[in-house]
Amino acid sequence: MSLRPVVDEHECALHGDCAEVAPQVFRIDDVAVVIGTGPDELIMAAAESCPSVAISVIDESTGEQVYP
Ligand code: SF4
Repeated sequence: MSLRPVVDEHECALHGDCAEVAPQVFRIDDVAVVIGTGPDELIMAAAESCPSVAISVIDESTGEQVYP
């Protein structure tokens, strides 16, 4: 499985948790932006860390949303 995070820029409240959990995947600009990839577990942990549930996770092999 290969997971890809997507940030909902309207929901992102700039808490920064995602970038703390996965600094190689997220950077905080005006909103959180996806800057890279990482292991599936890390992508999922970052998404689950977001207090605003602003990060969706897509399974690239199926196109399905697997989180939230
Ligand atoms: S943890 Fe969520 S709300 Fe905070 S910066 Fe990341 S995406 Fe935005």
